[in-house]
Formats: sequence, structure tokens, C-alpha cells
Amino acid sequence: MLACSTQDTWQQFLEFIKQRCGKAEYENWFAPIKVLEATDSSLSIEVPNIFVREYLMDNYKEDLASFLPLKSNGDPSIQFVIAEQVAKQEEVVELPSNAPQEDISPNQSLNPSYTFENFIEGPSNQFIKSASLGVSHRPGKSYNPLFIHGGVGLGKTHLLHAIGHYIAKSHKKLRIECITTEGFVNDLVFHLRNKSIDKMKRHYRSLDVLLVDDIQFLQNRMNFEEEFCNTFEALINQNKQIVITSDKPPGQLKLSERMIARMEWGLVAHIGVPDLETRVAILQHKAELRGISLSSKIAFFIAEHVFSNVRQLEGAINKLGAYCKLMRLEVTQDIVEQTLGELLQKTSQKKNVSVETILTSVAEMYNVRVSDLKGTSRAKEVAFPRQIAMYLAKELISDPIMKLASSFGGKTHSTLLHAWKKIGKQLESDETLRRQVEMTKQNIQA
Ligand code: ADP
Ligand code: MG
Repeated sequence: MLACSTQDTWQQFLEFIKQRCGKAEYENWFAPIKVLEATDSSLSIEVPNIFVREYLMDNYKEDLASFLPLKSNGDPSIQFVIAEQVAKQEEVVELPSNAPQEDISPNQSLNPSYTFENFIEGPSNQFIKSASLGVSHRPGKSYNPLFIHGGVGLGKTHLLHAIGHYIAKSHKKLRIECITTEGFVNDLVFHLRNKSIDKMKRHYRSLDVLLVDDIQFLQNRMNFEEEFCNTFEALINQNKQIVITSDKPPGQLKLSERMIARMEWGLVAHIGVPDLETRVAILQHKAELRGISLSSKIAFFIAEHVFSNVRQLEGAINKLGAYCKLMRLEVTQDIVEQTLGELLQKTSQKKNVSVETILTSVAEMYNVRVSDLKGTSRAKEVAFPRQIAMYLAKELISDPIMKLASSFGGKTHSTLLHAWKKIGKQLESDETLRRQVEMTKQNIQA
């Protein structure tokens, strides 16, 4: 009977969740879950993929804990079995070697919420989003490979999966696979061990679209790199689409020259840190998805204080949402400060940056004088670094624009805004400039 009671409480949990979240959210995340085993001390469930597990633990851990048996550390006693892994292992073991591979639905390895519709556009990602859409409309025929690089938590995986979803919907016959580089390496190890490497080769080479996440994990793994490079060439030679994400541009990866050259064949595009307005839009979108009401004043407050990557913004919304739902409270500034304390603190460093520090660092970087930067000369050698300093001032200091502009020898508000927009735009496509600005920023914040 006890075993039954855990099963019952799981049902009660689902009923409770149904009341709490929207229909789409329920259908997307909860409906596909299967109960495998329920005992008096734990519950084992099968989820379609790893994202569902993360989603549950990120958003509903406290709720799960209040329904289910607990472990000694207070966490809900729940085991997740990932269906796609089970399916994949079975497929590899059971298929006779000459049998055609079954189509594995790409949806299994794609996070359901990483779609183009859910991707908020702004100056930092517009270019890469259009390139991704281009690839999705005409896989293999526009940019190939498409190489997306940028820092942690800026939406690389999101775009990669969005491409997968889009192609899966609009080109139903194409065989798509989305893998992490770790996954590729693990697959290779598995097939080497099982002496089934030819089968793996056949599988990868029969794909129409290969989406590869985090290629930086291929660094320092020579043998794997070679196999990856062979697969890559085989696909590209047949005009099959490849999309790769990475934390660095190809030239900065510790990979063979051959591999780097291949990755530079197509389009290499950077995804940057979103500006304030985009961060606000992202926050509002994420809040809406989670059914949290967030005034624009609060959204601006959070976006001003959480600024280095989108994952942190999302973390902020999750934390805030969980707290407010649990306590049945409205989101107010006090609650934001209370719940997001540590996340927000980091901006105090931001406030310490002064225009003078920025001017000094930029002057050093570009070998000009601070007085030139504050002056009126329009000579390119001076005007360009001045615009960079203005860009950095707006990015790093939260003072009103008027005040910032006047620190540049009394420039106007519109001069500063113009410089900020111009440099921001240029940063999207100019790798050298991006590196210089990044370096200057690090000097300033050091
Ligand atoms: P990366 O792969 O670059 O480390 P992810 O793609 O995992 O980053 O993004 C981190 C989180 O931020 C994800 O939940 C993603 O949905 C979200 N995110 C990033 N950029 C955007 C954006 N422009 N619009 C909406 N959500 C975004
Ligand atoms: Mg990623």
C-alpha cells in the first residue's frame, strides 16, 4: 500500500501542477513523463530528455519535495531515467549491422523551449539570428558550416536547437542530429569498444543536418578530432548542413589547422552580451512564459543589475518566480533585492568604474592622450578611440547619458548615443575590435 501512496502523491503533484501552470507548459513538460517505479521511499520516472529533468529540478524542486519522500539532505527522492539514452543504447545494440538506422526524432535531443519564437532579438544577436534563419530556410545551401561563437550563457545552444526545430518542421524528410561534442566523443568511445565504428560512420554520414554544440571540447583530443574532421568533410562535400557552436572563434581553438580551416569555410559569427533594452525584453518574455507578472520598472532594475549573461537573467527569474509562487507574493523591488541579493551585488563593481578610468585605459590601448579623447579633433586616430570610450562608458556606468557625455569635455547626449550605437553595431562583425574592446574592458575592471 505504501508503494501506492507514492504513486498517488505523484498524481496529486500533477493535479497541483495543472492548476499552477498553463496548458502548453503542462503538455510540453509534464504530460510525457512516465512513472517507472514507486516505492515508499522513492519515485523513479522516465523523462524524454535531460532538459525535462533540468526543468523540473530548476522550477519545481521545492514543490516536488513537498509531495514526495525526501532524501536525507532534504531533496526529493526521485530518480530520473532519460528515455533518449535508453532508446539510443537499444538501437545500437539491437540493429543488425546492415539495417538502415531508424530515424531518431531530432526533437528528442532538442530543448522544446529553445525555438526562434522564444529567442529575443537585439543588436548583440541580430546578425547571428538572421544567419541561423537563413540556414534553417535553406539547409546546406546558404552558409555552410555556420559557426556560432560567444561567451557562456549568451544563447548559442538556444539558436542551435532553434535551427533544429525549424528544419525538423519545415523539411520533414531531412535527417537531423543535434549532438554535444561530448556526446560525439562518447559515441565514438562506445563504438570503438563495440567494434562497430563503421556503423557509427554510416550513421553520421547519412545525416542531412548535423548540429554540434560546444566544439571547444574537442581540443586536446587528437584521435577524436580526426574522426570528427572526416565526418565533417564527408557531410560538407555532399552539401549537408553543419552548424557548430563554440566559446571561441575557430582561430583561437587549439585544434589542427585542417580542422580550423574547415570551420572557417562558411560563416563565422559572434553572439554578444545583450544590451539593456534586450535584457529587459528577455526578462519580460521569460517571466511571461513562467506566468510571473513583472512590471517594466522591476524588469529594468533587474536588467541593470544582472548584465553579463542571459543564463544569469534566467536564473534570476527562476529564483524570483519560485519564491513568489511559494510565498504567494507579488514581485516588488524589496522582494527582488531580498531574493536576488548575491546576483545583484556584482553590479557594485560596475558602479566603481569612472569615466576617467575608461579614458585612461582607452588612451593607453590606442596610444592617444586623454586630452585628445576629451577634445574635438575629428581625426580618425582620435575620433575612433573616443567613440570606443563613449561606448564603454555607456556599457559600464549606470549614470544618466547627459552626465556621461559631459565628462567627455562637454559633448552632447546624442553624440554619445551615436557613438554607442555605431560601436555596438561594428562589434557584431569586427573580431579584432571585439578583442580590443574586451581587453580594454578587462583592464578597466581589473
Ligand atoms: P550558451 O549555449 O551560449 O552558453 P544557452 O543557449 O544555453 O547559452 O542560453 C542560456 C539561457 O539563456 C537559455 O535558457 C536560453 O534560452 C536563454 N537565452 C539566451 N539568449 C536568449 C535570447 N536572446 N532570448 C531568449 N532567451 C535567451
Ligand atoms: Mg551552450
